[in-house]
Amino acid sequence: MTTIEEKIIPYIPGDGVGQEIWQASQNVFDAAITKAYNGEKKIVWQEILAGEKSFNETGEWLPEATLDAIHAAKIAIKGPLTTPVGGGIRSINVTLRQKLDLFACVRPVRYFDGVPSPVKEPEKTDMVIFRENTEDVYAGIEFAIDDPKTKKIIDFLQNELDVTNIRFPETSGIGIKPISKEGSQRLVYAAIEYAIKQGRKSVTLVHKGNIMKFTEGGFKSWGYEVAENSFSDATFTMRQFDDIKATDGLKTAQNALKAAKEAGKVIINDVIADNFLQQILLYPERYDVVATTNLNGDYISDALAAQVGGIGISPGANINYHTGYAIFEATHGTAPDIAGLGKANPSSLLLSGVMMFEYLGWQEAADLITSAIETALINKQVTSDFASQLNDATLLTTQEFGDHLITLLNK
Ligand code: ATP
Repeated sequence: MTTIEEKIIPYIPGDGVGQEIWQASQNVFDAAITKAYNGEKKIVWQEILAGEKSFNETGEWLPEATLDAIHAAKIAIKGPLTTPVGGGIRSINVTLRQKLDLFACVRPVRYFDGVPSPVKEPEKTDMVIFRENTEDVYAGIEFAIDDPKTKKIIDFLQNELDVTNIRFPETSGIGIKPISKEGSQRLVYAAIEYAIKQGRKSVTLVHKGNIMKFTEGGFKSWGYEVAENSFSDATFTMRQFDDIKATDGLKTAQNALKAAKEAGKVIINDVIADNFLQQILLYPERYDVVATTNLNGDYISDALAAQVGGIGISPGANINYHTGYAIFEATHGTAPDIAGLGKANPSSLLLSGVMMFEYLGWQEAADLITSAIETALINKQVTSDFASQLNDATLLTTQEFGDHLITLLNK
């Protein structure tokens, strides 16, 4: 008798286009699993509430029961959520990440043949971004211009800490940027471990440490420290390169770098964030895995997504590699302008599902979905976001696109 492996996965369809992209995606997920495992593996989908739908049904944007379900299953998948209006939670996405301490926001960015892109050689972009998810100015420690606490903080800075360079102390808002050694190192550790496991060539630490020395600069040096202390056999850092150069000269350092590459070691380097935004446009082929702080990661993820065809196709995952908790999610917003019209591209959610199956070790199902998407895009059988930019495309609705993928993966 064959035993069936059943996995309970909580899901949040999401607001706006969420419902339609979820429906199309769930059908594709189920079809891929049936095809890959012949009924021996199965997902039991468990809907959980968050966002507008939740607020309308329960009066709460993020009910405790939702968090309990994610705790129990350890993983979940979700569509986009409306940002709550009026008090309480600032952002459901940020709250979920904080409550579950999902410290790594992982965004693979690759090009699919056939996708319209604004750059000449989009196929040169193939990176995986690890964005720190819990610290930085995103921690939400902010005080408004008219908040009495702001005056207290400014007085404290000026009177106790001898700060003299707040340009307009009477009319400032204040934001605090905490970046810790612990937070930086767990993120960089995850990025390096991923690079080693996936046979990637380099990990680039992206920071603005030339200006913010003790936060962004700290991220860079703590990152190098992780590589040198925890992965000394499998990595070679550009900080080691500089040390060798200082003691034994450039030639010896270059030879050491060459030897490390030949030995298949992961090269750890760093780039200043503004330069990095130029580099990814000019020389995307030079970068592989990227580890960065929260705000830099926000900008870089969107810039890179645009390079390979944009928002409808970029997947994401928020992961705590220590506890195993993970939420896989479409990276775009609720797209209210096209909601309910069958125009939304479900690929961002579908590819987030691919990441989820890979995380579960269900590689066969993941591969079936990826190759069906590749085929549909090459054949220009696409949703309206791409159809409007391509000649001779076959325009499909969200649901038709999902159904078409099912036909393709069953071939
Ligand atoms: P929110 O307020 O939830 O962030 P938004 O509309 O401001 O929503 P996005 O949802 O990210 O931000 O949308 C930005 C643009 O990209 C919109 O024009 C939207 O229609 C388009 N877009 C977003 N997601 C998709 C998708 N899955 N397929 C096609 N177009 C999309």
